[in-house]
Amino acid sequence: MKLKTVFVIILCSFLISCESKTNKRSFFAMNTHITIKSTCGKNKSANREIEQKFYNLEKLISTTAPVSEVYLINNNSGTVKLSDETFFLAKYALDGAVKTNGKFNPALYPVIRAWGFTTEDYKIPSDIEISQLLELTDFSKIKLDSETKTITMPEKMMLDFGAIGKGFAGDEAIRILKENNVPSAILDLGGNIQVLGKNLETGEPWKVGIRNPYEDGVAVSLKVTDCAVITSGGYERFFVGKDGKKYIHIFDGETGRPVENNVVSSTIVCEKGIYGDFLSTTLFVMGKEKAIEFWKENRDFEFIMMFDDLILCYTAGLKDKIDFLTDFNKIEIIQ
Ligand code: ADP
Ligand code: MG
Repeated sequence: MKLKTVFVIILCSFLISCESKTNKRSFFAMNTHITIKSTCGKNKSANREIEQKFYNLEKLISTTAPVSEVYLINNNSGTVKLSDETFFLAKYALDGAVKTNGKFNPALYPVIRAWGFTTEDYKIPSDIEISQLLELTDFSKIKLDSETKTITMPEKMMLDFGAIGKGFAGDEAIRILKENNVPSAILDLGGNIQVLGKNLETGEPWKVGIRNPYEDGVAVSLKVTDCAVITSGGYERFFVGKDGKKYIHIFDGETGRPVENNVVSSTIVCEKGIYGDFLSTTLFVMGKEKAIEFWKENRDFEFIMMFDDLILCYTAGLKDKIDFLTDFNKIEIIQ
């Protein structure tokens, strides 16, 4: 047999065996059903390692588990020494709060907790209670020391990484997959999707669906490789008050109340999960005009926003990637 023929046979058998080497792992962590599907490389052990990593991260950043570092921060004023991961998240969150003038504010937890979003024992706090709790949300009073990896919290202030934790976990998963020479994977963490490489089963980019916020099903599909597609939706976690109004889990730090604007879902497409997660929540709070302004100032991500009345806008960079699976009344492209 010629050398070339041998090479072709080896290559073919590699491709075939690679295709059959898809490993799927599902588990529950960070209040979310998580699925990882990865192909080739040391995918099976990578998926196992990711599951363990997620449990470990949850142990660090859960607001409710008394063993977590975040619980320790929130229930002790003064200085607390943090792990590298929690310190990274605290720094990312506090820098993000400065960058967005508090539209993103990880110190809103005392307010969010008073509305019952932690325990699902929902209630509408009185105006007085809200304004008293808002006094505890000035993130500029929280100090970090990069040398000693410590955080210093004023009395009664509390942190919550709920808006970025899953994105960070997704980035850790991608890192583990790459370390294990896995060339292709898709992670599904509820509204957070992160993909590595392309879909080796089809040889095409991954097709990622964005949930229809108006009814069941998928509203938009995106063809993507190596990126994060992260959605925050008002339909994810909410309650209907005795006043008949819908109160969602994304908060406006100026009013201390759930956001009430015409946004129904906000999706970010970018490289890093943590950035996408940070921005999906932030742009939701900002609303359309401020979100567009922020995009024009930064231009290191793309976004899709859906509004009441079946209206959608998206940034021009997604033009060749996007397909619509439902009828919209109006679609606007932001240049
Ligand atoms: P999910 O985690 O449900 O997919 P998000 O990424 O949008 O959705 O995060 C929502 C969570 O972020 C809330 O449950 C709350 O813990 C926190 N949060 C709510 N409003 C803000 C805000 N303005 N800034 C920072 N974090 C917020
Ligand atoms: Mg988020």
